[in-house]
Amino acid sequence: MTDLKQAFDLAGRVAVVTGGNGGIGLGMARGMAAAGAAIVVAGRNRDKSRRAVADLEGLGAVAVAIEVDVTDEASVVALVAQTVERLGRLDVLVNNAGINIRKPPHELDLREWRQVIDTNLTSAFIASHAAHPVMKKQGGGKIINIGSMMSIFGAAFAPAYAASKGGIVQLTRSMATAWAPHHIQVNAVLPGWIDTELTTNARREVPGLHERVLSRIPEGRWGAGDDMAGVAVFLASRASDYVTGTAIPVDGGYSIMS
Ligand code: NDP
Repeated sequence: MTDLKQAFDLAGRVAVVTGGNGGIGLGMARGMAAAGAAIVVAGRNRDKSRRAVADLEGLGAVAVAIEVDVTDEASVVALVAQTVERLGRLDVLVNNAGINIRKPPHELDLREWRQVIDTNLTSAFIASHAAHPVMKKQGGGKIINIGSMMSIFGAAFAPAYAASKGGIVQLTRSMATAWAPHHIQVNAVLPGWIDTELTTNARREVPGLHERVLSRIPEGRWGAGDDMAGVAVFLASRASDYVTGTAIPVDGGYSIMS
């Protein structure tokens, strides 16, 4: 029988979290930090990243901030190179950075469509592509892609966002299949409705959203960033070595309510 404490232990592992400076990314980073991982907080906003690093250090973890624009290939390649240079390895990549532009399809223009797809979907391809040779050389790794309830459902106000999050699930399955021989597990997490900057804006822009969402969450509350910590530790650790290509809802039951 595997030693389960050891199976979930992330000591000695290095995890890069894009958008790790707030919301869901920081919740996942906090979980992995508490399990022993060193964390690279990869975002654009320096103040937020500085605060996130201090938060993670407060949990006893090694944490560094590296600035990145996930839509820019050179910037993402540099993120991976700097991670290896500064922390010696790269074991876990969380493709979490994301945005939404809330408009119905007939009002969304091509520039806005591309901005959302580039930030939410193409970024995951670029970063995983850059991390793959490092992980392969190390003998394995873990990639965690962040989907959404809109990987499953559509929404009138989120055509590009839903397309990007549906695409994330299929990208996850494809990379999982390709890279299983290299012992790299690739999984997606589909968060439900989590209280973050992103959804604060959504609640402001979409009338009645807060109540509508709340009424169909069996757990009876919106999620918090820290609700994402457990699944991150599981998918980052040896405990999930035989789990690949999945899309795990973490949603208080939202997706199983009729
Ligand atoms: P936040 O707005 O708090 O986080 C988004 C993060 O993405 C920020 O840290 C931001 O960093 C980063 N980011 C955005 N664009 C870029 C970019 N071009 N380059 C680098 N970093 C970037 O929202 P959430 O925590 O809610 O969202 C995190 C992920 O979870 C997203 O993929 C979102 O789609 C997904 N999600 C959220 C749900 C929710 O209910 N909140 C539900 C389902 C999925 P910075 O500020 O430094 O730019």
